Amino acid sequence: MTTALVTGANKGIGLEIVKQLIAEGMDVYLGARDVERGEKAAADTGARFVQIDVTDPASVASAAEKLDRLDVLVNNAAISQGEIREVFETNVFGVITVTDAMLPLLRQSKHGRIVNMSSSVGSLAGMVDSPSPTSFSYVPSKTALNAVTLQYVRVLKDTSIKINAACPGYCRTDLNHNTGFRTPAQGAAIAVRLATLGDDGPTGGFYDDEGVVAW
Ligand code: NAP
Repeated sequence: MTTALVTGANKGIGLEIVKQLIAEGMDVYLGARDVERGEKAAADTGARFVQIDVTDPASVASAAEKLDRLDVLVNNAAISQGEIREVFETNVFGVITVTDAMLPLLRQSKHGRIVNMSSSVGSLAGMVDSPSPTSFSYVPSKTALNAVTLQYVRVLKDTSIKINAACPGYCRTDLNHNTGFRTPAQGAAIAVRLATLGDDGPTGGFYDDEGVVAW
């Protein structure tokens, strides 16, 4: 059975990704930093809970030890508030910590897939072409995450692992004080599509529901 791990999955878009991957027939580890919130979400969805704080390398290493296989990694955990170092710690360095810890397992999979939950607000082309919210933390963190995604493309070029960045659109979650106009389930769909790509699918891209997003 295909095994997946979704970080930051006790609520919001991550929780919906878990539900949709389970509906695809996957065995899903629901990653959350808080044990109580994570266990409850796992019980509600039929996922397996694994404690993982992406900013805590010991917690990430311990999560990797608990998994005996992994085919799909969705780096979903993120924060939108805080100063730039704090936000980068979660949204960029956290993704690197988790990806590096899970790569040995993903390399053993015949169909490894990594999805990095990014945002079109991090698009450099978008910043040049159209007004986007001014932010010295969340916005550049997603730009950096996009660059990190492309560096992993190089690292993984001789493997069957596909890695892509996803933008869920503006969804109603705690991240934006529930101001989004899309549902978390709608936001989850692009991550699920990239997590379930066939072997002829793309790698090294940035996608939303409409298609390709400019880097
Ligand atoms: P959310 O509702 O705020 O959920 C964020 C999740 O990340 C929560 O489960 C949170 O856990 C977890 N998290 C935060 N820091 C963590 C850490 N250090 N370790 C582990 N988990 C951590 O946000 P969302 O809107 O669903 O966002 C999901 C992803 O989509 C993010 O990458 C976000 O940047 C991206 N995105 C969202 C939108 C949007 O409109 N919502 C748009 C573009 C991109 P706690 O419950 O413990 O805080």
